Amino acid sequence: MLGAMLLGPEKIEIRTVPVPRPGSGEILLSVEAATTCGTDVKVFRRGGHPRMLQVPTLFGHEMAGRIAAVGPGVTTFSVGDAVVVANSAPCLTCDACQMGRENLCQDLHYLNGAFAEYLLVPKRFVERNTHLIPKNLSFEKAALTEPLGCVLHGIDACDLPRYGQRGPVEILVFGAGPIGLLFVAALAMEGHRVILADPNPGRLKIGKKLGAAETIEIARGGGQADVILAKTQDGRGAWIAIDATGVPEVWSDAIASVRPGGLVNLFGGCAPGTTVSLDTHLIHYSELTIKGVYHHRPETIRKALKVLANPEFKADLLLSAERPIEAVEDALRSMMRKESLKVVIKKQLAPDG
Ligand SMILES: [Zn+2]
Ligand SMILES: [Zn+2]
Repeated sequence: MLGAMLLGPEKIEIRTVPVPRPGSGEILLSVEAATTCGTDVKVFRRGGHPRMLQVPTLFGHEMAGRIAAVGPGVTTFSVGDAVVVANSAPCLTCDACQMGRENLCQDLHYLNGAFAEYLLVPKRFVERNTHLIPKNLSFEKAALTEPLGCVLHGIDACDLPRYGQRGPVEILVFGAGPIGLLFVAALAMEGHRVILADPNPGRLKIGKKLGAAETIEIARGGGQADVILAKTQDGRGAWIAIDATGVPEVWSDAIASVRPGGLVNLFGGCAPGTTVSLDTHLIHYSELTIKGVYHHRPETIRKALKVLANPEFKADLLLSAERPIEAVEDALRSMMRKESLKVVIKKQLAPDG
């Protein structure tokens, strides 16, 4: 089978490798659609990821497909089933897992290799984070389950039942990449007033289509809190600000853009070793809640599939192009140039179905 092998920083080779055989409890997934993601770009640039993968390795982590074979002992799935496999599987026994915080599992396993014709799904993933795709949902859209699962986990962290007691909430989203846009779509669908800020006018336009009440074209690199405050309903800031950029200067803007009692959700992961300085007076006297939010939980993966199956949820607007496995590097480079939001990688006709 063909697969995109990551060998080091900005080094990918398309290789022919043997189709894996599922062992006990495992399944073989025929990958029908895999989507590229900002994390793949990071991994491509840096030549790996301390938590998720070490080179040389097949990579890609957002996938949907059909079960091509099952190993001995698999009873919950059959050959031909259309499924989504999430890219992580928790242990379910550590203290984090027991508290329902499986994204912080001390022994979280990651799965990579979606930019290939087939993917071997280990037992733990089959048991804990593989899900049937609803009938009316395409493989392309279903592949967005992972990023939407992250976003729904991010929305759970926003404490909306509390902030929304008096009705829809004004929420700022920084960053109109795929994650920021999924936040916009999911929050707008729940009736909230979302303000989206990003330097890219084309992406802001997509944000509008996904339900943003307002968009702000900001300069790159942060220092924009005043501009943003002026756009909030009474100029005092939003109740909730979400960073989906992973840029420390924008984290600071997000913190400076909420009103007293507000919540700041720092969702975009910054580069290792970076820091931000905090206005202690502001945080104390305005009782700000500032939280870091990471990854997804099996529960939000299941929920994401349901949300994606709703035709009103126009996540397909994030899919900029479809390319074959051979074009993975091109696809990632087009993301680096901000020419595409996400690219769907599809195998060409498989030699043996
Ligand atoms: Zn992803
Ligand atoms: Zn655990």
